[in-house]
Amino acid sequence: MSREDNPQFATKLAAYVAALRPIIYINHFDSHAVDALIASIAEKDTKIYEYNEAGHHVDFRHKIPAGSLPGSDNLNSFLSTFDDNEPKNAFLVLKDVHRQLRPESADAAIIARLKSIADRTMFREGVYVTVFLVCSELVIPSELEKMVTVFDIPLPGAREIENIIRDYADGFQIPIAPEDINELCVSFKGLSDFEIRQILNLAYQRSGLIAAADKKLILEEKEQIIKKTGILEILSFDSTLSDVGGLDNLKKYLQDKSHIFTHLGEARRFGIDLPKGLLIVGMPGCGKSLTAKATASQFNVPLLRLDVGKLMGKYVGESENNMRRAIKTAEAVSPCVLWIDELEKAFSGLSGHGGGSDVTTRLFGQFLTWLQEKESSVYVVATSNDISALPPEFLRKGRFDELFLVDLPSPEERRRIFEIHLKKRGKLGDQVDVLKLLKDTEGYSGADIESLVKDTVEVAFISDDKTVTTDKLKAAIKTTKSISVTLKDKIAQLKTIYEKYDFQKASRD
Ligand code: ATP
Repeated sequence: MSREDNPQFATKLAAYVAALRPIIYINHFDSHAVDALIASIAEKDTKIYEYNEAGHHVDFRHKIPAGSLPGSDNLNSFLSTFDDNEPKNAFLVLKDVHRQLRPESADAAIIARLKSIADRTMFREGVYVTVFLVCSELVIPSELEKMVTVFDIPLPGAREIENIIRDYADGFQIPIAPEDINELCVSFKGLSDFEIRQILNLAYQRSGLIAAADKKLILEEKEQIIKKTGILEILSFDSTLSDVGGLDNLKKYLQDKSHIFTHLGEARRFGIDLPKGLLIVGMPGCGKSLTAKATASQFNVPLLRLDVGKLMGKYVGESENNMRRAIKTAEAVSPCVLWIDELEKAFSGLSGHGGGSDVTTRLFGQFLTWLQEKESSVYVVATSNDISALPPEFLRKGRFDELFLVDLPSPEERRRIFEIHLKKRGKLGDQVDVLKLLKDTEGYSGADIESLVKDTVEVAFISDDKTVTTDKLKAAIKTTKSISVTLKDKIAQLKTIYEKYDFQKASRD
């Protein structure tokens, strides 16, 4: 990222330096891009000193150890050289030192040094030393808060991505179809200039071409990013909507959305808003999670799971920072499906029953604002049993595109669910008349039916004739209690709650 590529960032950064902002925090993981940006704003006589966690004091240009500073093998001694012999005009670029700034592990001496360098830049005439903290995580010790300016480098937008692709293709004289550029632009969203060029390189090396088919490479690269950040879970899941029995309205809705999602570039140009996501509420064990997971296969994008409980940190601001990182990561991997299971547990107590903590309230606010303003192709699918435990803000228009209610399956839906699970196990043959099972399974959930089938297949395996028959399934029904029996009160309570809301029905009448 040079001054020519991104004149607006360079101008803004140069303005901060000129205004003697002593510490500039660049929260970015692409250090090549940041180096180019910093180099582009340095004056001729600005000396640039770099300290990084791996190589300690290194030459900024060549990244080889630079031994000219005595005792600069740790951050404290590196900083002390500047504290003691102040240069007049310098940039100190400190990379990935955030661990040393965290409250639990911070070194008071380091913070004091940074403070003193910053003080001199701000108050002593003729001293222009700017400290750049270039870290993949944002950690600002409270003592430095007033001296730190956070500088955000947004990732390339659609037009910039298009320019990068065109620039690359022109450079190597690779013909590329305009519709392929459009599709790639959408897939590349969330990656930095450097990462985009690396993938283009890889694609070109592999096939001598750049085409929409390279979306797979982009996906692999994005999976790497998620694994590295470790804050979201990436799930591999190959079931599709055809593995979901019933819920025809919901499935039709998702099929329509998937057409938009798999042609996002074209859809956007046509004037269609980016789909935000949906909330699926309903009875336990009736296919909410299954549908959430199948959405990702239907959309042909990665499936990420956000566990809000896991975001909770021990230190002040840690949970919010984790949420910020989770959102950033999801955006970096987008297009993707972000699944939030048991939404009511994630943000529990916020509706006034049970006292949500301050942290939960802040996380909730952060999440809602993001959902409302989201401009990325992260499709959020949230699932929940008990809507009454959720703050009403979730249900307002503009948050999710749609709210669906999943009820216990109808007879026709139970037929489909039986067929799906029997077929999965190769047992949907002449000896089973599914229609004869429907009367006795009133009040059974999809999960109940699945477990009936599983048990019967097990019994058949142990028996002499090894067959799965209607009678064996009927016998299993007799000995298995449905959710409507085991959770009678809970189911009745949920029914009353659902009646208060005007949800779309997931099932077709
Ligand atoms: P909970 O609210 O308890 O999380 P859920 O509605 O998310 O429940 P799922 O996890 O989707 O329930 O369902 C559990 C299992 O039951 C699924 O993995 C699937 O095998 C089976 N199942 C449930 N509903 C259906 C369905 N409609 N079609 C096919 N299988 C189903």
